Amino acid sequence: MGRIVVKFGGTSVATVERIRQAARHVKREVEAGHQVAVVVSAMSGKTNELVGWVKDAGGVDADQREYDAVVASGEQVTAGLMAIVLQSMGVASRSYQGWQVPIHTDEAHAVARIAEIDPTNLEADFAAGLVPVITGFQGIAPSGRITTLGRGGSDTSAVAVAAAVKADRCDIYTDVDGVYTTDPRITPKARRLSKVAFEEMLEMASLGAKVLMIRSVEMAMAHNVRLLVRSTFDDPDAPQIAPDGTPGVPGTLVCDEDEIMEKQIVSGVTLARAESKITLRDVKDRPGVAAAIFGALADEQIVVDMIVQNISDDGSTTDITFTVPDAEHDKAVKVLEAAAKAGRFEYSRLSTAKGGAKVSVVGVGMRNHAGVAASMFKALADKGINIQLITTSEIKTSVLIDDEYAELAVRALHTYYGLDKEDA
Ligand code: ADP
Ligand code: ASP
Ligand code: MG
Repeated sequence: MGRIVVKFGGTSVATVERIRQAARHVKREVEAGHQVAVVVSAMSGKTNELVGWVKDAGGVDADQREYDAVVASGEQVTAGLMAIVLQSMGVASRSYQGWQVPIHTDEAHAVARIAEIDPTNLEADFAAGLVPVITGFQGIAPSGRITTLGRGGSDTSAVAVAAAVKADRCDIYTDVDGVYTTDPRITPKARRLSKVAFEEMLEMASLGAKVLMIRSVEMAMAHNVRLLVRSTFDDPDAPQIAPDGTPGVPGTLVCDEDEIMEKQIVSGVTLARAESKITLRDVKDRPGVAAAIFGALADEQIVVDMIVQNISDDGSTTDITFTVPDAEHDKAVKVLEAAAKAGRFEYSRLSTAKGGAKVSVVGVGMRNHAGVAASMFKALADKGINIQLITTSEIKTSVLIDDEYAELAVRALHTYYGLDKEDA
């Protein structure tokens, strides 16, 4: 007997019929003797619709506290429906909204971070044989107002609940049967990974593999919560655990690197689209200028990714180029112009280009292998793809390229690094 947190994404709860299918997975775990807590997303498409309504009502400057009040509602519906469906199947259950658990967050509306989850109520439910169904994606700020965690946030809710109740596992049910070497929508040659290290998953999620929210992987790594990414469409009544203790159903275990015997040099290729490139020309160079520029952006919660700095021959000025998601482009430009006006730094010209594509290769094996970046550039050159920006870390190399070549690049690299499925 163990304790499991199961999370159902938007597709898994898209209709009442799907909720019934999801509930059968829960029932199976309960009947196997486990204590189960459920975390749900909103029905797929619902959060987009809610965000659209907020934009309609208040534009991009809408009060973020009210944005949260509106967009958190999608999960309230599915949590209640899931509890009703479980009850109808003979599984005792009750729903919780974030504030009822309570899931405490900071005050950063629309991008809140979970500070703490009080497990008292959930523990009482386990003791009473109840299955708590918790709204993902939301919590309560110290001010008492509802917060949301950022898009895709119910993964993070699930991991946080798993950490709070010290669950043995956190199962993420989604519309794919695991984590793939690349987004299976880009190439049918993508292969399911049976295991992936927390660190690799963190890079992959950060670089565009939106199968798990970045923050959820960070949290799983910090609290050593093993994640099983699996398909909601699996037969709920199929046998689950193989005799040797490995999952008997298709899925990907996200776990500690030590649990993975064979470390690939490249485990995955990722693609993030809609990346804006912003360049500040002739920035007056002095100590602290980069801190001033990126500090101004950070103050407004704008996450910057690739950064390149070119110093002029005489060292007096520098061009600074970086990327932000297209969605942050306008805000970033506004912030930079305002900060320059306020005298925090000086530049001659600001130029921007929206719609770039960031393609990355990721693998823990890269740590001990030289030349991965060079071979990646060669593979792209062979396809005639021009590289605009480059960044690397110990276990990844990323390039910014024209969106037109994005999928070609992913497919070329996937083949180049031997990741293609054998029968494809
Ligand atoms: P949910 O609504 O269940 O949270 P998401 O849409 O957030 O589901 O995540 C699942 C999707 O992530 C898949 O449908 C798939 O297209 C996409 N995806 C991107 N990269 C990968 C990858 N490397 N492996 C698996 N899925 C991926
Ligand atoms: N419903 C939220 C979203 O669409 C949270 C989630 O699905 O994880 O972003
Ligand atoms: Mg998701």
